[in-house]
Amino acid sequence: MEYSAYFACINGCSGKHSLYQIIYVCPKCGSLLEVRHDLESISKKSPEYWKSEIDIRVAGMKWPYSSGVWCMREWIAPDLHDDNIVSMHEGHSNLFFAERLGEKLGVKNLWVKLCGNSHTGSFKDLGMTVLVSVVKQMMQHNNPVRAIACASTGDTSASLAAYAAAAGIPAIVFLPRDKITSAQLIQPIANGAQVLALDTDFDGCMEIVRKVTEDNSIYLANSINSLRVEGQKSVAIEIVRQFKWEPPDWIIVPVGNLGNITALYKGLHLLNAIGIISRMPRLVGAQAANANPFYMSYQNGFIEKVSMTAKSTIASAIQIGDPVSYEKAVKAIKKTDGIVEEASEHELANAGALADLTGLYTCPHTAVALAVLTKLVRKGSIKSDQKVVVISTANGLKFTGSKKSYHSETIEHVKSLHANTAMNLPADATVVSDAIERKLNHSR
Ligand SMILES: *Cc1c(COP(=O)(O)O)cnc(C)c1O
Ligand SMILES: [Zn+2]
Repeated sequence: MEYSAYFACINGCSGKHSLYQIIYVCPKCGSLLEVRHDLESISKKSPEYWKSEIDIRVAGMKWPYSSGVWCMREWIAPDLHDDNIVSMHEGHSNLFFAERLGEKLGVKNLWVKLCGNSHTGSFKDLGMTVLVSVVKQMMQHNNPVRAIACASTGDTSASLAAYAAAAGIPAIVFLPRDKITSAQLIQPIANGAQVLALDTDFDGCMEIVRKVTEDNSIYLANSINSLRVEGQKSVAIEIVRQFKWEPPDWIIVPVGNLGNITALYKGLHLLNAIGIISRMPRLVGAQAANANPFYMSYQNGFIEKVSMTAKSTIASAIQIGDPVSYEKAVKAIKKTDGIVEEASEHELANAGALADLTGLYTCPHTAVALAVLTKLVRKGSIKSDQKVVVISTANGLKFTGSKKSYHSETIEHVKSLHANTAMNLPADATVVSDAIERKLNHSR
């Protein structure tokens, strides 16, 4: 094999483990594993070679390069056979110049990476394509995996259900009952997964799924499994490529279980290590104040991990109190001179609504990132002329409920500053014209 990758302990224990082995933590010390690549073989080809090769693949869109993940397959899972790639053309999402929103927030160079424009409506597809493909290859080599399972705050389960269905592998999803949106609940149901709604929160579901998958006949798809992180890192690489292989100054991402900020760092680190970029963007982890263990840890200088019972937040996909990828995320923040900031329900709901007024259709997690951006610009940490990318992690259409509540001004602790309502009028042209006049005069 020209390129190779393996699992290794993040704490430095010796031992390389195959990506096709069922293993989630270091057998010696119990720490998280990460996927390591043979950077020497990758570096045998020049940065110029890689940039132009990937640009050509993306322009051609030939399968599997029609996927934003598999167009960089040598950097993700090099030993995977074509026949085992389970892809639904994830990635290649729009990087949108948010000019009017930037003007409102005081940043001239604001971009929104629309990762929610994906197969199941969230950026979780980028990691799931890798995990399900690896499992497919494992099963071909007679590994006795019977199903793939995950605990989820709604998007991971939707993604697992879809990719498992595409591969013909049974999926089991563990959801905190009544804590995800109805769109997120119906997604795995439609894809035929076994859907288990448990009377607990995400952290409770995580505990159960870890026990249920202990005997290895059911494969665990949560981001404790670093195969997911490996696929998610393609977002960072894709952003740099979309800027003609130049890094932005800042990347802001909403964080819960901390897999994705880890993934961003990993993608950027790879580009740096093989000479494609020469400086790292600064990473910002954005948390909902109601579920802010990582922010609390940052506040104490990362002296120790904070865990808590997360309170309810409309940013339900990041309502997590005991983040699995804590150690990796601390490294991502430290190595990029990053920042962790939080936003209240009032701040995030209004930041999302303001963005919608400039043409976006934000999910509440993207709203957390935008609220945090607003704060960091006010504090002077982010300067008006710096290039900023906000990762929009899911499609707003999955979160109709919270948008409806916002515009009908019924969210607790939130004053809806940008509420808008539909007008119910009789079918009478004069009444309608009057209403239009009043509204146009009012908004002038
Ligand atoms: C999963 C998810 C996040 C956070 O990613 P983590 O890896 O859990 O930190 C943010 N937004 C959305 C919409 C998500 O589904
Ligand atoms: Zn170890």
